[in-house]
Amino acid sequence: MSNPINAVRGMNDLLPVDTALWQSVEKIMREILRTFGYQEIRLPILEKTELFKRSIGEATDIVEKEMYTFLDRNNESLTLRPEGTASCVRAGIEHGLFYNQIQRLWYMGPNFRYERPQKGRYRQFYHCGAEVFGLEGPDVDAELILLSARILEKLNLTSHVRLQINSLGDSQSRAAYRKVLVDYLTKHQDQLDEDSQRRLVTNPLRILDSKNPAMQNLIVKAPKLMDHLDTESAMHFEKLQTYLTSAGLQFELNPCLVRGLDYYSKTVFEWVTTELGAQGTVCAGGRYDGLVEQLGGKATPALGFAFGLERVMLMVQQLGLAPAPNEPTLYFITDGEAALTQAFKLVNIARDALPHLRVLLHCGGGSLKNQFKKADKSGAEVALILGEQELNAKAITLKMLRENIPQRLISQNELAEELQKLFK
Ligand code: ATP
Ligand code: MG
Repeated sequence: MSNPINAVRGMNDLLPVDTALWQSVEKIMREILRTFGYQEIRLPILEKTELFKRSIGEATDIVEKEMYTFLDRNNESLTLRPEGTASCVRAGIEHGLFYNQIQRLWYMGPNFRYERPQKGRYRQFYHCGAEVFGLEGPDVDAELILLSARILEKLNLTSHVRLQINSLGDSQSRAAYRKVLVDYLTKHQDQLDEDSQRRLVTNPLRILDSKNPAMQNLIVKAPKLMDHLDTESAMHFEKLQTYLTSAGLQFELNPCLVRGLDYYSKTVFEWVTTELGAQGTVCAGGRYDGLVEQLGGKATPALGFAFGLERVMLMVQQLGLAPAPNEPTLYFITDGEAALTQAFKLVNIARDALPHLRVLLHCGGGSLKNQFKKADKSGAEVALILGEQELNAKAITLKMLRENIPQRLISQNELAEELQKLFK
């Protein structure tokens, strides 16, 4: 035997024991997005590298060190998408979705970042994202946040997460604040860690987002962006808070919340939890009014969020909130070739009568005893047994596998009706 080949580090297989949970969570998300009037968009996993450089920003963690970038056979630089917003904006511009139109969009799918794999942080991970184009807010900022809140509520996670919000202001006020911040940090340069030394020149706002405990004292005492907001952004932020309060949603102001991507402006928010250790953000988003124009489209206000699906699944699992698999199943057992052949006909009748039922026809032969064992292991509630006697009588034996009720013989002609009564 040759050596088996393993998956690439940080890329997970989702096995059948996992996918039931994934499907149920995804279903809840899709359903809520639909009821809020959001429409699905499906985007390629591969894009031109330039797209992410121009949107996410050259001096961000993602572009500096996390992208899977390679040359294709035509020597074109391509990148596995590290997130969905840039692709969504690219597609919207390319297909004219932003001309005098409001778009409410969502997508679900994998992203790729070359990070150190650990709990809640992988090299392939899934987002469920929503993006809105063509509305200046703050009403739609509130709508989007309330949408994310409803998803968490339907997943029973409300009491395990906190909403943090902040405003990054417009680009001018941010530039003015940047100077004030750089002055402050330069005065305390001896306290900056290596990453922050570098960021001081390339992306000083990101220093506020440092997770290094040694830096926290310096960060807490830093001048606040909130105190340098332009009037319009300040009013926008005030209104947003009024709407959230009116909707009964609790939130915290986090003046150090800056987000790791360059394109954000005004509202930013994160849903955080203490249940997942260091990887505490389960959903993150904000407004990015400049991005459509920056990527070559007509100026279009926009905003969005993304849930990190692995972190959502971890929480649901850890808190014991995963739905119990509860699928009724029907298991066909046959004795002999003639019975098996006839069973193929009866299985169809069962499937037609109960389109949602899980119906298994035993494959692989074996003794009746062995088939009953398999039926039991499958979790089936009901077994249908077709042997020579049944075959001759045009009947089939129905046996409840989880209840102490005597088995009974039913006519094959009445199979559909009997099953419908049983599983109604
Ligand atoms: P973090 O600060 O945790 O690195 P981020 O700011 O890089 O997150 P975003 O780009 O905003 O993350 O992505 C939105 C969400 O996607 C995050 O809040 C998180 O839940 C999830 N996420 C981001 N990177 C990863 C990863 N490598 N593995 C799993 N989930 C991730
Ligand atoms: Mg990150």
